[in-house]
Amino acid sequence: MTDFYITTAEKKGDLKKVYGPYSSYIEAHEIGARFGREGLITEVHRADIVCDFCSTPEVKWMYPADDIAVDALQWGSRGEWAACDTCHALIESSERDKLAEHSLSNFIKFNPEMPVASDSEMRREIAKGIRALHEAFFLARIGKAERTP
Ligand SMILES: [Zn+2]
Repeated sequence: MTDFYITTAEKKGDLKKVYGPYSSYIEAHEIGARFGREGLITEVHRADIVCDFCSTPEVKWMYPADDIAVDALQWGSRGEWAACDTCHALIESSERDKLAEHSLSNFIKFNPEMPVASDSEMRREIAKGIRALHEAFFLARIGKAERTP
């Protein structure tokens, strides 16, 4: 298992405060959402580098991107997005449905504490969140992917 951290800032360029570690994405996201509602710029980070689309640790590509804040998710991303070979191939061929399906199945795999597979309501919410995240990427993306060393 990996650790999660939250950073907050009152405005862009301010010194960031770091909170954590949190042991699950859910815990970090819930606490992060609270900071977001207080009007702080909030980001949830993982301690290790994983694919930003499906969370596998086999990162092979980096996509340059603008900083972006997703209001619906109270979530933000700074700079590059990491991608594994599978997600890179789906992004390059613009197979957004397959990319979303692949991300959802890995989300279920990597978050066994969440009853996503049996709870169809939760599954729909997470699928929606994944879609919003991917849309944010396609908007923020500013150049060609580079192979990681
Ligand atoms: Zn991936």
